[in-house]
Amino acid sequence: MRLATIETAVGRRLVALRNDGYVDLNRTDPRIPPDLKSFLVMGKEAWVWAEEARIRGQALDPEQARLLPPILDPQKIICVGANYADHAQESGMPVPSEPVIFCKFPTALCAPEQPILLPPVATQVDYEAELVVVIGRRGRNIPVEEAGEYIAGYCCGNDVSARDWQLHKPGGQWLLGKSFDTFAPVGPALVSPDELPRPLHLSIQLRLNGQVMQSSNTRHLVFSPEKLIAHVSQVCTLEPGDLLFTGTPGGVGMARKPPVFLKAGDLLEVEIEGIGVLRNPVASYSQGE
Ligand code: ZN
Repeated sequence: MRLATIETAVGRRLVALRNDGYVDLNRTDPRIPPDLKSFLVMGKEAWVWAEEARIRGQALDPEQARLLPPILDPQKIICVGANYADHAQESGMPVPSEPVIFCKFPTALCAPEQPILLPPVATQVDYEAELVVVIGRRGRNIPVEEAGEYIAGYCCGNDVSARDWQLHKPGGQWLLGKSFDTFAPVGPALVSPDELPRPLHLSIQLRLNGQVMQSSNTRHLVFSPEKLIAHVSQVCTLEPGDLLFTGTPGGVGMARKPPVFLKAGDLLEVEIEGIGVLRNPVASYSQGE
C-alpha cells in the first residue's frame, strides 16, 4: 500500500493511492486516524481497515490535495553517514566498520513541493538523495533477523546539509548543519515493503535542475536497513513513525570540482525506483513561506 498525508480544505487526511487517485481513508472508515503515526501505533488491524477502505472509497480530486510529509511528527529522525562506499571515498572517510549515526531535528521536515529555504547564515548548502525507512513498531535490542518486521515502509528523502556548518565549524556541527528548518524533505508517500522487490535493490537518483547528479542503487548500501535497525536499537527504543535516513551515494555537490552548492531557483528531485519522486524547489528565506 502507498499511504500519504495530505492537507485538504477540511483538514489533514490519511490517504491511500489507487490507480485513479488518492482515497480518503478517514472519511471512508472513521476508525482510521488521520495521522499516520497514530495509524502505525494501531498495528496490523489498521492496515486491514486501510486496504478495505482503499478499495471501496472514492478517489479525491488531486487538485484538492496538497501532500505533506507522510509522518508529520516523528519522535526521531536518525541518519547514517558514509553508508555507500563511493560517498565515503569522495568525503575522505574510510568505509565504516560499524554504522556512523547522527540525527536531524524533526522540525527540519519539509513536504513534497515545499521550498527548501537557504539560511542566511549558511553558504554551502548541499543535497543528499536517500532511502528513508519508516519504523512501524516499538522495539529495543531488535535482532537483525527480526528487524524487517519493524519496517512500516519506505520513502524518498533528501538529507539537505549545510557543509560550512557540518564540516567547518569548531568540532564539526553535523547536527546543526543538517537540522536547519526545511532540510529534511520526505515523501511523496510511505510505500509498504510488500510493494517493493526483495532483496531491496532499487535505483536511486538525484537530479538538480534536471541534471543527474547522483545515480546508484540501494544494493550498494554498506549497512542494510535491517542492520541499521539492529544497531541503533541497542542504544535507544525505536518508536512507530521514527524515520531512518539510510545514507547517500556518491555525487554530492561538495565533492565536485568545482563544488556545486544550492542556490535560489534550483529544483531538486530525488527518485527511487518503486517509491516515486520527491521534488522540492530551493528558495532564499525571503522568498519562502
Ligand atoms: Zn545523509
